[in-house]
Amino acid sequence: MFSADIRRSEEACNGQLKLAYLLGNIRTQENAYLNLRSEAQHKRQAGDMVTLGVISMMVMIMIDCALCQTEIEQPACKVRIVTPDPCEAVHLVSRSDWGAVDPTQKTPLDLPVSMTSIHHTLTEGCCNVPQCSARLQAIQSKQMTVMNFDDIGCNFLVGNDGRIYEGRGWTNKGQLIQEYDELSHSICFIGNYTEDAPSWFALDSAKKWIECGVNKDYIVHQYMLFGHREKDNSTQCPGDCLFSIIARWPHFPYFK
Ligand SMILES: [Zn+2]
Repeated sequence: MFSADIRRSEEACNGQLKLAYLLGNIRTQENAYLNLRSEAQHKRQAGDMVTLGVISMMVMIMIDCALCQTEIEQPACKVRIVTPDPCEAVHLVSRSDWGAVDPTQKTPLDLPVSMTSIHHTLTEGCCNVPQCSARLQAIQSKQMTVMNFDDIGCNFLVGNDGRIYEGRGWTNKGQLIQEYDELSHSICFIGNYTEDAPSWFALDSAKKWIECGVNKDYIVHQYMLFGHREKDNSTQCPGDCLFSIIARWPHFPYFK
């Protein structure tokens, strides 16, 4: 081959090489472009996925919010917590039902009163209406004839059957603790509670009955509870045992 041919060949070869290089370069760039485009597509696809995800989430949130708002806009729940009426929870035995005699006179109380006093009758206890009625008739008779009271002294009396027995009621003044009679209702537990406690039923009914008096505005909400002995040094009423029990009730002045 002549040198010129070789040169042309070389030039051609170089040219081909250059072309190859160029083509290779182009391909490389094309590949790079394709790679970039693929990457971009991937990114775009990924972006699209993210966008789609975000849109989906927004739609879901909007649906959720719409549901929440729908729920919020629902009518108020018709079921409510009902606190049992303490007045309804207690069985009251009227004066006529236990055989009371009429009072000689009545003195109305200035209502609502600010205090409630606790007593015991210092008699035998009782566990049913006939027993308790017999106790109350004896107490009323003694107080009206021997002690010259107008009526049975207590506003209400409590049997160990858990019944409340009507004495002078919410509206008339009691006759047990002098000046405090016009400031309080007297609740008397039937029995002697120096060493024994009244029944759970009696204690529970007494608390409910006081609460009933508060609900009916016969007693102020911030009333004070006390035992007879606190206002009269001559008596141990309502007995050591019952006194130690009421000293732990709310509204007792030293209650903690
Ligand atoms: Zn008393």
